[in-house]
This record gives sequence, C-alpha cells and structure tokens, in this order.
Amino acid sequence: MSKYIFVTGGVVSSLGKGIAAASIGKLLEARGLKTAIIKCDPYLNVDPGTMNPYQHGEVYVTDDGAETDLDLGHYERFTNAQLSKDSSITAGKVYYSVITKERRGDYLGKTVQIIPHITDEIKERIKKVAKSADVDVTIVEIGGTVGDIESLPFLEAIRQLRWELGEHYALNIHVTLLPYIKSAGEQKTKPTQHSVGRLREIGIIPQILMCRTERPISQEQREKIALFCNVDVEAVIEAADVKHIYEVPLALKKEGLDELIVKKLNIKMVDRGIKNWEEGVLKRLRSPAKEVKIAVVGKYISLQDAYKSIYEALVHGGIANNAKVTILKVDSEEVEGAGFKKFLKDAQGILIPGGFGSRGIEGKIAAVKYVRENNIPFFGICLGMQIATIEFARNVAALKGANSTEFEKETPYPVISLIEEQKKVKNLGASMRLGAFNCVLEKNTKSFEAYKSAKISERHRHRYEFNNAFRQQLTQKGLVIAGVNPERDLVEIIEIKDHPWFVGCQFHPEFKSKPDSAHPLFKGFIAAALNHVK
Ligand code: GLN
Repeated sequence: MSKYIFVTGGVVSSLGKGIAAASIGKLLEARGLKTAIIKCDPYLNVDPGTMNPYQHGEVYVTDDGAETDLDLGHYERFTNAQLSKDSSITAGKVYYSVITKERRGDYLGKTVQIIPHITDEIKERIKKVAKSADVDVTIVEIGGTVGDIESLPFLEAIRQLRWELGEHYALNIHVTLLPYIKSAGEQKTKPTQHSVGRLREIGIIPQILMCRTERPISQEQREKIALFCNVDVEAVIEAADVKHIYEVPLALKKEGLDELIVKKLNIKMVDRGIKNWEEGVLKRLRSPAKEVKIAVVGKYISLQDAYKSIYEALVHGGIANNAKVTILKVDSEEVEGAGFKKFLKDAQGILIPGGFGSRGIEGKIAAVKYVRENNIPFFGICLGMQIATIEFARNVAALKGANSTEFEKETPYPVISLIEEQKKVKNLGASMRLGAFNCVLEKNTKSFEAYKSAKISERHRHRYEFNNAFRQQLTQKGLVIAGVNPERDLVEIIEIKDHPWFVGCQFHPEFKSKPDSAHPLFKGFIAAALNHVK
C-alpha cells in the first residue's frame, strides 16, 4: 500500500513547492522507492490548456496527451515517476465529474455537496494514482496558498486521508517563507506561525516545515519555530535560495529531509545517495568548461514561466556539452523592425519556440531568414518549425505571400494548414493534436545523427500541420523532410541542406529532456552552436 506525502504552501505563492515536491521524489527514489506525483490545482478550468501563458505560464504535456501545470515538468525532470492525465487533478475536473454523475442520477436522490461529494471525488482520484503500478510513496502537491477559499476542498480531502490512514502512512509537509527584514536585520517567523495556525484551524498539523529563506536559519530560530508551530526541531528544514534549481535535492538532503521522511513514515530502505546527480549535473553546472549564447525569439519573453521547459532543456543541452548556456531573450515584436540584427548579433544559435496567434510572426520570419542566410544554428519548435517552413517557401521557393492559415486564411500558398479532422473541431479545450506520436527519421540528417535511431516518439500540442500539397515543391528547392509520422504521413521534422544545423520539429522535444539525459536535439543544437564561428 502506498504511503502519502502532502505538500502545502503558505504565506505567499511562488515558493517553489513544485521543485520541493520534485526534489522529495528524487531523494526517495535514491532510497529505492517508487514514487508517484500528483498536482492538485484549485482553479475551475478543467485543464490549463485554454489559459493564456500570462495567466498560467507554460502548459506541460504528458505522453497520454494531458495538458497540465508546469510543475509536472519539474516532476519529470527530477524523477522517473510516470505521469499521465491522472497526475493532474484540477477543481474543474473534479466538479465536472461530480456534476456529470449528478445529472446521470448516480447520487440516488441525495443533496450533492462539497463535503462529502467533492472531497470524496478528490480522494478517489488521489488513491487511483497511488494504487497504480506498485507505488511506494505518492507525493501530492496542493496548489495555491493556505488561506485561499478555493483550495479548501483539497485541504479537507487530505485531512481526511491522513486521518483514515494514520501517522505512519501519511505526512504533511508545509512549505513556508521566513522573510528577512533588512531594516531590522531580522528573519521573521510570524508569517510561518500564522500559516501553520491557519492549517491547524482546518485540522491539518504539518509534521515538517520547509522554510524558504535567503539566509541561514540559526539554531535559536529553529527552536522558536518548532515551539510555536508544534513540530520537532529537526523537522524545521532550511530551504535556502540556491544558484540553480538542480541544487535543491542536495541542499534538502544536507538538512536531513529524506532521513526524516523515511523515519516518520516508518520506511526502511537503503540510501544509495545522489552521487550521479552531483557528478553528472551539479559539477558541470558549477564549473562548465565552455560558454555559449543562445537567443530565444518569442512572444512571451517577459514572462519567466512561459517557456519553462525550453529554457531547462537548453541548460540540459549545455550540461551534456559541458557548457554554460546564456539565454538571450528576444521579443519577437522587437525583431520586426529594421534594427533586428542588434538583438541577434551575439547569438551562436537561435531558437524559436511554440506559440499561437499572429502577433510577432513577421519578426520570427525575419529571424529565420537571418539564421538561414548566415549559417547560424537554428532550432524551431512547433510554431518555430512552421515559421521556418513559411520563410523557406517565401524566400527560397519564391512562393510569394506563403503563410499559415492560422495567420492568413486566404494566403495564396497555405504551406501550413489544418488537416481535415481539425477543421471539424468546435470546442477549444483538449482538442489539439496532443500527446505522443511516432516519427520515423530519414538517414543522413542532423536529426538522425542526434537520435542515433530511426524510430522515435515525441509529444505534440498544435492544430496546424505542414501542408503535404507543398512537399514536392519545397523539397525540390532543398528543404529536407527529416522525420514523418508513419501512421498519418505528417511531416514532423524539416531541415535545410547545406546549413550547419537547421532543424524544425512539429513536436515539443523540450518536454522529454532531463538534466542528466539531455534531449538529443537540444544536445545537438548546443554542440552546433558551440562550433559556430563568427
Ligand atoms: N499555433 C500553432 C498550431 O496550433 C503552433 C502551436 C505550438 O507552437 N504549440 O499548430
């Protein structure tokens, strides 16, 4: 039977609960435990797929095509947990299913209520994941901050679960903040006391506090927090700011977090440590041999989280090449004017990530023209691949006015367009081409060289496709179709002959990259950028 760790957050949002949960998973795996991770999100959207990146940041996609919170990306990068649609529980999903059951008449005349019907639905969904595939420990992260009205049903559900399971089967970890007040020269514990008090009011008593802090916590402060928050002194865990997120598991291990967890959950397993992570990831992050500058040209550059997995995958590509990757964030609308070269001149490689809508498109096309003509390594992902196709059609194949029908319905050359099934789509939620699809690679391409294998599977999230009606016209001019989905004959990867590294893929390779095993295309792209001589 799986044991549970419930992770809540207090005081403020953005404390890095997702990274904390992922790090716990990493440390438990090092003790030979199989973990599952669940993210509960209290919003009423069924999934974040319909949300604007400004609202939500990146939408992360799993193999089975779930559109989820970006914290699931942290889980997959840090652990080997198998994530699926079930790993993401939103209030939207929960209410949708309870109301559907009510309409069907499943509740047999009862009044349907938050307690027990919503809370039972949450508990069932959590238990379903915990029961699958022999999981030893299920880590459940509750989104939002304690005190929010909307997260209450989730908190009530985990309260009940711990009460039902007992103390050796479930553990509450509360991630909180110890702000440092400069003018007073003091680290403050009061917000943490209040937040824990808030949890106690609803019947949850955290056994471990992970205290986010800029400065070390003194022994005296630890004792004070322990006394006022009802935890053991050893359970006051310092979670200090670190230079890189991949340092977090090690920092928490030094604080004895995993030792404490297994003690409290009464688990006896041998700790194999995280030496590989230290050697293979941290050492290279701390003292890389080389440096490379990569420009990312996108619409949501001002937003920290919009291209989360892309930025991480670039770092992984750097680790694999023993290089520090400096990311130059370029707003595609600024590239639109004549002076765009000043934004790109320092870059040894240019990446165009995914996106939707016509804003900034012409700037991206100008950027692709620049890299193609100047032999600068180029990596286009999803929309980036579509842009590269448009640029090639316009400027190499002389198809004047070529475009995607997403941006111009009446374009004379719709080189990117909707396939039949997408034309019928009415609802925007969960209706894109989503999740993992097969792709077969052409030999003698940069992609084959990177993957070293002809059969791959990658995750998708898009509506539009390379239009096969233009395949011949474009390949005659030197476009290379490097990867095709065999089941549907859809173009998945394009390249350009006689260019040092020019790859555009319709899928999202960034979702499958990990710090200790960089995605082959990111590894190849960074290697090419390192070779790029001005
Ligand atoms: N807007 C494009 C499409 O829907 C690309 C999507 C993306 O980059 N994720 O096909």
